[in-house]
Amino acid sequence: MSFINCEVEQDFLKRGVSRRNFGRISALVAGGAALPFYNEAAMAQQLSMRLDVPVDAVRINANENPLGPCPEAAEAMYAVIKGGGRYMYEKTFEFTKTLADLDGVKPDYVQAFAGSSAPLHYSVIAFTSKDRGLVTADPDYEAASRAAQFIGAKVTKVKLDAANGYKHDVKAMLAADPNAGAYYVCNPNNPTGTLTPKSDIEWLVKNKPAGSVVILDEAYIHLTGADFGSDLVQQDKDVIILRTFSKLFGMAGLRAGAAIGRPDLLKKIMPYSAGAHPVTGMVGATASLRAKGLVEKRRAIIAGTRNDTLSWCTSKGYTFIPSVSNKFMIDVKMPARAYIEGMVKEKVLVGRAWPSMPTYVRVSVGLPEEMAKWKVAHEKVMSKA
Ligand code: PLP
Repeated sequence: MSFINCEVEQDFLKRGVSRRNFGRISALVAGGAALPFYNEAAMAQQLSMRLDVPVDAVRINANENPLGPCPEAAEAMYAVIKGGGRYMYEKTFEFTKTLADLDGVKPDYVQAFAGSSAPLHYSVIAFTSKDRGLVTADPDYEAASRAAQFIGAKVTKVKLDAANGYKHDVKAMLAADPNAGAYYVCNPNNPTGTLTPKSDIEWLVKNKPAGSVVILDEAYIHLTGADFGSDLVQQDKDVIILRTFSKLFGMAGLRAGAAIGRPDLLKKIMPYSAGAHPVTGMVGATASLRAKGLVEKRRAIIAGTRNDTLSWCTSKGYTFIPSVSNKFMIDVKMPARAYIEGMVKEKVLVGRAWPSMPTYVRVSVGLPEEMAKWKVAHEKVMSKA
């Protein structure tokens, strides 16, 4: 069951969140919901619902992993279903212990969730307020800013550093709001698929104001081979890392994720959270973490398809932002909406688009045969540009 208690209400009021906005949060949490309309699938769906998408269309619009769960995870989930009449909290503890060991932190530094949307929303709600806003990049994954707006906190967007590989401009982010409550860094970034060097994140953590946190969203980190930010948590810094099993691990519909951070930081986000997690997600996530070589194997498969697609784009003279993730932004030289609609007519669903890059569209990396269909449809639609 979800709850928000008196202590939390007092904390909210102290932080300048109005009773009205507090009421909205309570109502939302009491419903067991995690701002459900602000996750990737929902945002992707908001667009596709307005389009007449054929059922047999290729869907490369929500950064999902068409490979689905690995066989070890699928087996673990089948096996646990028949016992599903029980809460089986021990499966969640097993998951958090397994993840904690891999990240080199104590188990109480890991909090399980059904995906990472919930802890992202909760972290923003817990650390921002009327007086302490959120700083994020542009373009970015909008869920963080929408959660801040929802409680009336100021959102400051700072353009990615296009001259330096579209990394986060951490110095500009701090300068833009030196007293923010949270700095959101999605690494690699969604939608651009670009990496911010670890040293920049360390700089931000070192220089950010007291009482604030860096929310380090590592939803796509496994796809890159880059270092995790876990050492910052090991050093007890003001960092909350978010992980999901929706991407490389192919469990978007099955739901598993985690927040990794100092116990006192996790405690702040927990009052907004629900109780038991789906046991299927928990055992699937544990099995995925234990599957030998899975991350490297999948990273190579997805990189192979992505690099093939991007080499093709280069050979055809299309402009795109080089990506190390399972999506990329391509300049379609027309209003994004016109391109997306044109692609739907060719039975390929792509998207989304961001207001600050009106002619760019995000394309998720699917299976090789799906990308082959995307190439044919893309050429056709671009020929009309
Ligand atoms: N963070 C980022 C950057 C994402 O792109 C997504 C989903 O696409 C999420 C978090 C949340 O994913 P989920 O709730 O499926 O774990």
